[in-house]
Amino acid sequence: MASRKVIDAVVEQLATDPGYGSGRKVHPQGLRPEEAGAVMADLYVAHADAARRLPMAALDLGREIACKRGCDACCHDLVLINEAEAFLLAEALLEPGAEDVLARFEARAPGWQEVVGEVAARAAAAHADGDRVRYLAARHEHQQAQLMCPLNQDGDCALYPARPLSCREGWVVDTAERCGPQPDDAPPPQRVSYPGYESFLGMARRVQIGLQGTLGRPPLALTPLPTAVSAALARLRDV
Ligand code: SF4
Repeated sequence: MASRKVIDAVVEQLATDPGYGSGRKVHPQGLRPEEAGAVMADLYVAHADAARRLPMAALDLGREIACKRGCDACCHDLVLINEAEAFLLAEALLEPGAEDVLARFEARAPGWQEVVGEVAARAAAAHADGDRVRYLAARHEHQQAQLMCPLNQDGDCALYPARPLSCREGWVVDTAERCGPQPDDAPPPQRVSYPGYESFLGMARRVQIGLQGTLGRPPLALTPLPTAVSAALARLRDV
């Protein structure tokens, strides 16, 4: 088990060395899934702080944030997560009181796998190879299928406090109409940001990717959420 001091030093190195975020470097320190999960949980809290200014930044531009509870447009998108995020989601599913959410996830995950599992795996493989063109093409194909994340329950995220980093970035302004599947030449949704937020996201991404190495995984090998959570559930039940 790594001490707090060791974990803090690892996080500092992952956060500041671009080599870890690009996947070129693999951190030699091994961490347990619960240790890496705690690092991600801290990042989620820090993200909430960094994002607090976004509505004001939108208002300064005369715009309004369109993202709101009950809008599930981005829950049809491909969500790639690291092993620590999968651990946190699986742990939340196994909490007492989450039995219904767990049952619903396990009933829906195989259907998700059958319809978009192959294209999602292709996107993840392209991401792991650092092939952005192939990744975006597979991601677009996945979006066209419009299959809801198995953790979404009647429009809401059933595990909102444990949702992964990708689900926390968004911040579309004015309308969510462009968040769904669009023709190839359609403009992307308009997002609001500010330099401090972008710099936070860059750091968070470096840590997210870098943590993979501490768990013995190839850094860029993020996994589609339903696949990763199913595997993490199996591992936790095996313990
Ligand atoms: S984890 Fe939650 S927020 Fe993220 S895609 Fe799934 S339902 Fe939506």
